[in-house]
Amino acid sequence: MSQHLAEVAGTAPGAAAPRALRLAERLRARIGADRVLTDPAQLRTYECDGLATFRVRPAVVVLAGHRDDVVETVRMCARDGVPFVARGSGTGLSGGAMPVADGVLIVLSRLRSIVSVDPDNARVVAEPGVVNLWVTREAALYGQAYAPDPSSQQVCSIGGNVAENAGGAHCLKYGFTVNHVMGAEVVLSDGEVVHLGGTAPEHPGLDLLGAFVGSEGTLGVATQVTLRTIQAPESVRTMLVGFHEVADAAGTVSDVIAAGILPAAIEMMDALAIEAAEAAVQCGYPHGAVAVLVIELDGPRAEVDEQFRLVEEIAGARNAFETRIARDDAERALMWRGRKSAFAAVGRISPAYYVQDGVIPRTRLPEVLAEIGRLADEAGVRVANVFHAGDGNLHPLILFDDKVPGAAPAAEELGFAILDLCVDLGGSITGEHGVGVEKKSKMARQFTDADLDTMQLVRCAFDPAGIANPGKLFPTPRLCGERPGVRTADDRRDPSLGEVF
Ligand SMILES: Cc1cc2nc3c(=O)[nH]c(=O)nc-3n(C[C@H](O)[C@H](O)[C@H](O)COP(=O)(O)OP(=O)(O)OC[C@H]3O[C@@H](n4cnc5c(N)ncnc54)[C@H](O)[C@@H]3O)c2cc1C
Repeated sequence: MSQHLAEVAGTAPGAAAPRALRLAERLRARIGADRVLTDPAQLRTYECDGLATFRVRPAVVVLAGHRDDVVETVRMCARDGVPFVARGSGTGLSGGAMPVADGVLIVLSRLRSIVSVDPDNARVVAEPGVVNLWVTREAALYGQAYAPDPSSQQVCSIGGNVAENAGGAHCLKYGFTVNHVMGAEVVLSDGEVVHLGGTAPEHPGLDLLGAFVGSEGTLGVATQVTLRTIQAPESVRTMLVGFHEVADAAGTVSDVIAAGILPAAIEMMDALAIEAAEAAVQCGYPHGAVAVLVIELDGPRAEVDEQFRLVEEIAGARNAFETRIARDDAERALMWRGRKSAFAAVGRISPAYYVQDGVIPRTRLPEVLAEIGRLADEAGVRVANVFHAGDGNLHPLILFDDKVPGAAPAAEELGFAILDLCVDLGGSITGEHGVGVEKKSKMARQFTDADLDTMQLVRCAFDPAGIANPGKLFPTPRLCGERPGVRTADDRRDPSLGEVF
């Protein structure tokens, strides 16, 4: 982290931002003085997202209250060449919503109306600041549900979910955000409003909506999103399984899926994560467990019962010492509370921690967990694992004491070594938390120059001036026009590119 902090600090607080400040005056006149912040004390709230080690104070914060506030702000930014960053709830874990020092941060959390609910066509139209859980609650009134459920679902926004292609426990069966977005109204980086996708399930032509989802705010700002809802299953039941060996828990995950059972969720926690969750929320996980699985099955009641019988058999064959099916909603909620509170709970057993996010083919879980343990021992660092095991989506929580000199960089180094491991095993440097500012240097580890050039060309088509969330996701030439066509490895040393891999 220290290396990155230094990098960020180069562009950081205190940097003169006269253009942005002049623009703030004009914005006040157009959208209201109370919606445009420049007071340093107020700006501090917006210095970072959930990855608090990366901080930059923006020159201006706009609290958008209406779609037109976004249009107006982006239009003025485009005219003056001022960079802007969209922010939803600020729960991102890769520094995606970290501001630009001489730029404008557009906060969308006040755009929080559910515009319409259409249960017959299984869709909900929402403004970007709507909290993920509100959509599910609204859909539930009609016997439906919104499937993507990040562990941050009580606070993260739909706009942020779309930008990060957020996942969650139930994405194993139902897919990621990209599978549940039908259309989006987007303000492009010149202020033009366009509609990507629509209200029909499928559209001819290039999948520009697909490109937008997961683009981390670099292709424009979503101001309205049409989401697909699903029929709520007849029955949902949850099981907790305790193991004495991590490898047995990991093996069970693959065995269950190989047996043709597709659970709604399979989540895994290791001993350290269990310890933290127990201390925080007394979730009653099996005593002495070195690993637990939270397995959720949904569907017709008879099918769920039969599948649970099979899952019990499979887990037994992998030496599970306790299997417990929740008897009622309260017990089910408690099982989930342990899992969903785990990130925050780890704060109880360590002064600081660093959340990593990588993905591997799930059959390699036993191997990757053993190797993470080895790397952690070698570095003398504790790692708690709590993750979406069914997807092979790892979340190692790397514990450190931020008061000990060198501890933070050691944690970051270990996190990056884990990402290398993920790539070596055929996985990816991020499963769902995005690349942001944190992992952009790792993009070249996973992608070739040609891959990155192609992504840049797409970005340039949406944002030729490079003012939409610059410095995130991938290295960006300051102006697309500076260097048209394909770049080569030599370009990385070209200072005119502004940023390097
Ligand atoms: C405790 C905890 C648990 C988490 N668990 C999960 C999990 O299980 N799965 C998961 O996927 N993530 C998880 N996350 C990460 C985070 O919640 C998600 O990435 C979420 O999608 C971010 O939403 P947000 O509204 O907070 O976005 P922000 O953090 O505000 O922004 C994230 C990115 O989206 C961009 N953005 C925001 N709004 C818009 C918009 N309207 N238009 C264009 N770009 C926009 C920003 O510029 C930034 O790049 C977790 C985070 C925490 C703190």
